[in-house]
Amino acid sequence: MTEAFVSLATTDDYARGANVLGKSLKRSGTTRKSVIMITKNLSSHTKEELAKNWDEMIDITELNSHDKERLAVLERPELGCTFTKLRAWTLTQFKKCVFLDADTMVLQNVDDLFDREELSAAPDVGWPDCFNSGVFVFKPSQDTYVKLLEFAKKVGSFDGGDQGLLNDFFGDWATKGSSHRLPFVYNMVANITYSYTPAFMRYGQNVKIVHFLGAVKPWHHYFDDSTGKVKKLTSGGLAASDVFAKMWWDMFKATGDSYKDSQSGQTGPASWQNWDQARVVYTDRRERWEKGTPDYTGEDRFDNILSHMKSMMITTTDTTAATTTSTTTPPATTTTGISTTSATTTTTSATTTTTSATTTTISATTTTSAVKETKE
Ligand code: UDP
Ligand code: MN
Repeated sequence: MTEAFVSLATTDDYARGANVLGKSLKRSGTTRKSVIMITKNLSSHTKEELAKNWDEMIDITELNSHDKERLAVLERPELGCTFTKLRAWTLTQFKKCVFLDADTMVLQNVDDLFDREELSAAPDVGWPDCFNSGVFVFKPSQDTYVKLLEFAKKVGSFDGGDQGLLNDFFGDWATKGSSHRLPFVYNMVANITYSYTPAFMRYGQNVKIVHFLGAVKPWHHYFDDSTGKVKKLTSGGLAASDVFAKMWWDMFKATGDSYKDSQSGQTGPASWQNWDQARVVYTDRRERWEKGTPDYTGEDRFDNILSHMKSMMITTTDTTAATTTSTTTPPATTTTGISTTSATTTTTSATTTTTSATTTTISATTTTSAVKETKE
């Protein structure tokens, strides 16, 4: 029996997310199967697209929690059908699976997730003693599926969606041991990264899966074909979330087979290659520091490395769309994938709030930084 990555799309809208996810999985060079569960209402065009990006499509019937009252508290009535996720346990032709929400994308190979046992997941940013059900390792089992349905009928879900139900059902997740707790980089919430930007600057190069949690998904933004830039429907968030929105759109637009040649890690849309290169350069330099041989006055200066990351983000940001953000965009050179600039001053002020599926309101951070960078 094989192992598989599994996702779900019950509407043409979510299928757009699933297409990008499927492409990103192939690009990651996974050796596992990719399986998308779909419902009958998808258009034939959508199915054709999904067939290009996923190894297998499996028809399932929608389940609905019909729990309007609780979903209203979440302000997400559309999430009732996320109960359909439970169908994933019926995929018993696979011995172990990793479920990925259709609004996630994979930046680096995550096949190591199959070393984990049911139920492994990352903490939810709104309530870290609960896990976020956008990425989780599970073991398909008819027995577990029946128990889940019984539990759903008897107990229901405290948030009306699958996350509340699964957290009660796998109630020992938080105490079961650290192997069940996935690092945050396996389910990094893209749109509220700005709540802890310094941590993103320190650990961002390790991000493996990005999750566009919340009501507004990247496909709801507008992509300007003439400029190749994303005009975000909602402003706010620091530049990192704009980079990921841009990467999502570039992958969405990608045609042909370029992303399939995944082993080199250097294929796919330019923004994805830039991300890879920025990550690699950043990691190399960190290693040099850790070995105690940093070039303190030259390229390894800490602010220099941060500015590499920042400048990469800023060059992909459409400043006209982000009304609360003012940036001085540095000129970029792309030969190494890393932007080089002379002197740049960046002032970023994000004042919007983001509501996650757990009705968390994240307060904004204001960052003012003067970035100086030397030419390489
Ligand atoms: N989903 C779907 N159709 C819907 C709503 C949700 O197929 O109408 C699936 C899809 O895979 C989606 C997941 O259920 O990614 C969970 O919903 P969502 O990602 O919107 O929840 P959030 O992560 O924002 O809490
Ligand atoms: Mn999601």
